[in-house]
Parts: sequence; structure tokens; C-alpha cells
Amino acid sequence: MLSKKVEDAINKQIVAEIYSAYLYLGMAAYFEAEALKGFAQWLKAQAFEELYHAIKFYDFINARGGRVVLGAIDEPPKNWDSPIAAFKAAHDHEVKVTGMINALVDIAQSEKDKATESFLTWYVDEQVEEEEQTIDVVNNLKIMKDAPGGLFMMDQKLGQRAYIWPGAAVAAAK
Ligand code: FE
Ligand code: CA
Repeated sequence: MLSKKVEDAINKQIVAEIYSAYLYLGMAAYFEAEALKGFAQWLKAQAFEELYHAIKFYDFINARGGRVVLGAIDEPPKNWDSPIAAFKAAHDHEVKVTGMINALVDIAQSEKDKATESFLTWYVDEQVEEEEQTIDVVNNLKIMKDAPGGLFMMDQKLGQRAYIWPGAAVAAAK
């Protein structure tokens, strides 16, 4: 059974994860408009992943006998000044999300909710990847800034990311 405090906090995090999906889909749309389809592809895949993060929380609330209650999703920005500005914003966002996940762990601990604490380790680990991936793109863009064709090469590389529903792999493994 979930305490009201933990249930409310996870419900808020569901909205935050869906906002992340919305933000990355907004960034994808920006890159489409800039004719950088590889960047857009990568961000669409990331948006899928964020929806999966939300649904993983949704399933957890239900498994614990809680009630999912969805709140409003903010409107994401529509434009960024450059590809590097967009990925810097993505990295800043992931650092913020890491703080939210850590705060959730603190709440689970204060409520002595071991199951939630254990469940959250998946998200703690996931945030290491999320921060690393976004800062890697920022750093690669910095290195390639003045190289001819650098942006094109990055676009080709990022476009290789498969655009799949991560839950399918989880279901197949079960
Ligand atoms: Fe996430
Ligand atoms: Ca990830």
C-alpha cells in the first residue's frame, strides 16, 4: 500500500515525465524545421522513452493499490537558438529531473517505503544515462562547431537511434 504522500509525489512525477516527452517532441519539431532529421529522430525516440518512464510509474502506482491522478502538462518552448542550445536545454532538464528523482527517494525513505525506494533505483540509474547522453551531444557539437560537414555527420549518427517503444523489449523479456 502506498502512503498518500508517496502516491501524490509519484503522480506528480508522471506529469513531469510526460512533460519531458512533450519537451523532446517539441525539440524534435524544431530540428525537423531546421532540416536536421537525424536529430529529430533521436529526440522522437527520447520522447518515446519518457512516455515509457511515465507509464512505468503508472503501472507501479496501480500495482501498489494506489490511484493514478493526472495533472496538467505545461507548454514546452517552441524554438531554440541553435542545435547546441537545444541540447544544453535538454541536459539542464535532465539535471532537474535527477533532482526530482532524488527528492522522490527522500520521500520514500521518510515514509519507510522500501518497495518504492527499491523501484526508484531504476530511475536513479537511468538518470546517469540521460545526463551523459545529452551532455555528449553538447560536447560533440562543440568539437564539430567549425568542422565542415560536422553538423551533417552528427545528424547521420543521431538518426541511427531506433525509434521504438521501450516497453516492447521489457514485455518480450518477461
Ligand atoms: Fe525520464
Ligand atoms: Ca534513457
